Amino acid sequence: MLPDVRMNAVHPAPSGRMGHVWLVGAGPGDPDLITVKGLRALQGADVVVYDRLACTDLLAHCRPDAVRVSVGKQAGLHSVSQSGIHALLIAHARAGRRVVRLKGGDPFIFGRGGEEMIALRQQGIPVSVIPGVTAASGCAAATGIPLTHRDLAAGVSLVAAHRQENAAALDWAALAADRQRTLVFYMGLSQADHVGMELMLHGLPGTTPVALIACGTTSAQRAVRCLLADLGAVARHCGLVSPCLIMAGQVVALADPDLVAWARLCREPVPADTI
Ligand code: SAH
Repeated sequence: MLPDVRMNAVHPAPSGRMGHVWLVGAGPGDPDLITVKGLRALQGADVVVYDRLACTDLLAHCRPDAVRVSVGKQAGLHSVSQSGIHALLIAHARAGRRVVRLKGGDPFIFGRGGEEMIALRQQGIPVSVIPGVTAASGCAAATGIPLTHRDLAAGVSLVAAHRQENAAALDWAALAADRQRTLVFYMGLSQADHVGMELMLHGLPGTTPVALIACGTTSAQRAVRCLLADLGAVARHCGLVSPCLIMAGQVVALADPDLVAWARLCREPVPADTI
């Protein structure tokens, strides 16, 4: 059973010394993809606050007496609110503890790590950030898709497909304009229809190679590739589950065929040597 982690279980340290919070990137799912520095922080922590996407196998590296707190973040369902997470980190640090905030992928890429860092800074709590392998890099490596390539992609954009209601709309024209750029959409499975439609409406050809990669780098990884024109239908019919990334761009044609299945709808795939 997990130790009692309710707020009233947080008592001040007898010495009155301030603790420290490390925002640690757990990597994309394969527990071996955490950094050595992140692992060391985890091993030394008094308290570990983790979310669903942070690989729970990593908790085996915690000290046996470390307090482990699941804040259960997942799409559309936050078992602890963001302000509740801030309050928890602040309370444990004020109690003089070494706190690891273990976050999926990299803490500063769509992980609200920036918000947590600012909340801690505002309270005068020392905070350090240990980067992690973000899902785009992990999934790219796990499918043989180079995110950049001298002949095919001079850049890569990491894009949040799912945005807060009051957030500014994505600049689809800019995203679609650069054919030499790989686009990686996070939080995109439920938005796949919209992503495909907007990119095509703004001029990206429907024949652009696209991949959907679910649970990348884990034993549950499933990856399919298709044409941009088929993205929505493939997302609806292939039974992929979150977490899932969408990659679009010419480099997707280089995917390892043993790792990425072709989702053939009514169209024939574009042979790799024609693009
Ligand atoms: N900080 C994380 C991203 C958090 S946002 C990082 O740097 O990777 C959550 C989104 O990340 C998911 O909706 C999904 O789009 C993507 N994601 C995270 N882990 C993934 C994985 N193993 N496979 C595919 N996509 C993943």
